[in-house]
Amino acid sequence: MPYENLAGRTAVVTGAASGIGEAVAVLLAARGARVALLARRGERLSAVAEKIRAGDGQALAVVTDVTDDASVAAAADRIHAAYGPVDLVVNCAGVMLPHPVDAGRADEWQRMLDTNVAGVLRVVGAFGGDLVEAAADGRTADIVNISSVAAHLVFPNYAVYGATKAAVTHLSQSLRSEFGPRDVRVTNIEPGFVESELRSHIGDAELARQVQDMLDAVGALSAEELADLVAYATSRPRRVNLRQIVALPTRQV
Ligand code: NDP
Repeated sequence: MPYENLAGRTAVVTGAASGIGEAVAVLLAARGARVALLARRGERLSAVAEKIRAGDGQALAVVTDVTDDASVAAAADRIHAAYGPVDLVVNCAGVMLPHPVDAGRADEWQRMLDTNVAGVLRVVGAFGGDLVEAAADGRTADIVNISSVAAHLVFPNYAVYGATKAAVTHLSQSLRSEFGPRDVRVTNIEPGFVESELRSHIGDAELARQVQDMLDAVGALSAEELADLVAYATSRPRRVNLRQIVALPTRQV
C-alpha cells in the first residue's frame, strides 16, 4: 500500500511557498488530495498552485501569516468555503534566525516563537474541529508537525530556534494525548539538514558560512525526500500512527 489513503482528502499545508511545504503540497496533490497552500508570498503560492493544476491536481493558494490570528481565521473561512472541512494538516511554516543569546535579538526571538510555536497552535486551533469530526465519521485525520533535530541537539547560537523546535516536539506529544483518543493522528517529524530557503534568512554572514560548511560536509536531504515521509505517514491505514520520525542525511551525526 504505497500511498493509499490520500485520494479525496482535503489538506492544509503551511509554509507551502517553498522548501518542504511546497514539496509536501505537490506530492499530496499528486496522490489525489485537494491542497490549500498557506504562506505570506502570494506570487510564490500561485506558482505552486499552477504547478499542481498543470499536473491535474487541485490546489488553492491562500495568502496567510501564521503569526496573525485574523489572517489564520480568514484562511480557515476561505478554505472551508472552497473545500469544506479539512482532514489533513501539515505545519511546515517556520523560520530559523540564529544569533548568540546575549546579542539580545528580541525581534528574532519573537518572530521564531510566534511562527514556529504559536503559528502551529493557531493552525491546529483553526482546523482541530474538522479533524475530530472527520475521524468521528470514520475517515483518516492527520496533524503533521515539522519540528527539527534541533529539538534535541544543542547548537551554539541556535538556542531560541532549538527551544521553539523542542516546544513543537513536546507540543506534538501533548496534541497526540488529546487527539489520539479521538482517532486523529499526530506525527512529529524531526529533520536534519534539508535543501530549502531556510538558511537564506540568516542575517550574520559568519553564521551563514558555518552552517554552509556543515552542510557541505554531510550533505542534505531534498525537500521531496521529506515530502515522501509525510506522504508515507499520512497514507497508512488510520489505526497506524508513526508518531515520531527523525530523518537525517546518512552522514549527519
Ligand atoms: P523554507 O524557508 O523554504 O520554508 C519555510 C516556509 O514557511 C516558507 O514557505 C515561508 O513562506 C513560510 N513562512 C515563514 N513565515 C511564515 C509566516 N509567518 N506565515 C506563513 N508562512 C510562513 O524552509 P524549510 O522548507 O526548510 O522549512 C520548513 C520547516 O522545516 C520549518 O519549520 C523548518 O524549521 C523545518 N526544518 C528545516 C530544516 C532544513 O534543514 N531545511 C531542518 C529541520 C527542520 P513565506 O515567506 O512566503 O511566508
